[in-house]
Amino acid sequence: MRPPAESFPAAARHELANAQLRANLRNATDTIRAKRARVVDEVPDWEELRDAGQAIKAEVLANLDRYLVQFERAVEDAGGHVHWARDAAEANAAVTAVARAHGVEEVVKVKSLTTDEIELNRALAEEGIHAIETDFAELILQLDGDWPSHILVPAIHRNRSEIRDLFARTIAPRIDSDDPERLAEAARVYLREKFLSARMGVSGANFGVAETGTVCVVESEGNGRMCTTLPPVLVTVLGIEKLVPTFADLEVFLQLLPRSSTGERMNPYTSLWTGVADGDGPQELHVVLLDNGRTRVLRDSVGREALHCIRCSACLNVCPVYSRTGGHAYGSVYPGPIGAILTPQLVGIEHAASLPFASSLCGACYEVCPVKIDIPSILLHLRAEAVRAAPKRLEQAVMKLTAATFASPGRFALAQRLGRLLERTLVRGGALAPWTRTRDLKPFPREAFRDWWRRERS
Ligand code: SF4
Repeated sequence: MRPPAESFPAAARHELANAQLRANLRNATDTIRAKRARVVDEVPDWEELRDAGQAIKAEVLANLDRYLVQFERAVEDAGGHVHWARDAAEANAAVTAVARAHGVEEVVKVKSLTTDEIELNRALAEEGIHAIETDFAELILQLDGDWPSHILVPAIHRNRSEIRDLFARTIAPRIDSDDPERLAEAARVYLREKFLSARMGVSGANFGVAETGTVCVVESEGNGRMCTTLPPVLVTVLGIEKLVPTFADLEVFLQLLPRSSTGERMNPYTSLWTGVADGDGPQELHVVLLDNGRTRVLRDSVGREALHCIRCSACLNVCPVYSRTGGHAYGSVYPGPIGAILTPQLVGIEHAASLPFASSLCGACYEVCPVKIDIPSILLHLRAEAVRAAPKRLEQAVMKLTAATFASPGRFALAQRLGRLLERTLVRGGALAPWTRTRDLKPFPREAFRDWWRRERS
């Protein structure tokens, strides 16, 4: 994954200047937040569900090696092929190889953060293969060369009139209305033809079931189901942390996820597929198991909890920092509180040291997280890591100067005289006076021992 191009404070400064962005964000996050609160309140055992989700995720991570091998066997037994990818390059190569083997020049894609993380579209384009995003918001971003700013609502920073103008320039020259139905219709007409002609579909996955080799994708528009059922070849890129042990475990997550993400009781489309079936759906299935830094995250006993995330985006919608800066300031496909703890771990803390500080530590993210990820504690843990990893140029220079001063009696005596002078001019009455107003600074001795000795005994 590419590290953020600039630090969070620098990127946030640009985004904060955009009043339209803040207004769009406020409208969208306020609406989703209110919907989420309503449907969560309806569930009497919501806290028990959260505990169950947390326990299942912890169990998977503690035994990931075993579950991955079990999943691989189950997929292959059901007629699928499994590819192991250590990083983005290997994952992209696996997908590209399948496309090339079938002479495919165009693939249809389900919205997927994992494929965004590995920049699959760019890798396919380099091989002359065009990937078409079929989620409405992802399509908008693709047509405009833009990138997502929210996990669930990737084009949250765009409003209707901006989308109408974009469609008029690209896929629907005659569109003259920003009515949501007309905009959706324009996208539908454009995409329908793509679904029917595509010979390969690409998806990410919300869950993979180790017991059965089943892959699960949840979505709201039905485009995902088109991509995973119409083309004869399907490739799914699955982050290795997305496994659940058994089919029954899906029951917990399929309650937690829709309520936390879109504020719905259930997802409009939940697609599940296990291998291939004669005459029904894709006849060739490939699953790419992606590491790309996840096993490194797993090694950190505190930070590993970030791998429990089910990408619901509830933490984004309640975060006071995200709701003002928007997602682009995080410089990653994973924005908001989850991005602040996941990105630095995936790319290395030295490449994203400012992200763990992009939080007020108010704890709202923890309160809403359906799998109880203790985001504030991980933020603090990563802040400590960032401080440890930062180059300590000033500290090193001070230590060198101190060593040189202590190594020479002449320099030491000079430093004592300088110290007394600085105390009188800078510290007690000068620029540093406010600092000592609330702190006790031990006064320098009026006379150094060496001077006393010289005066008394020489
Ligand atoms: S950290 Fe929790 S609240 Fe945030 S996206 Fe992940 S699962 Fe949802």
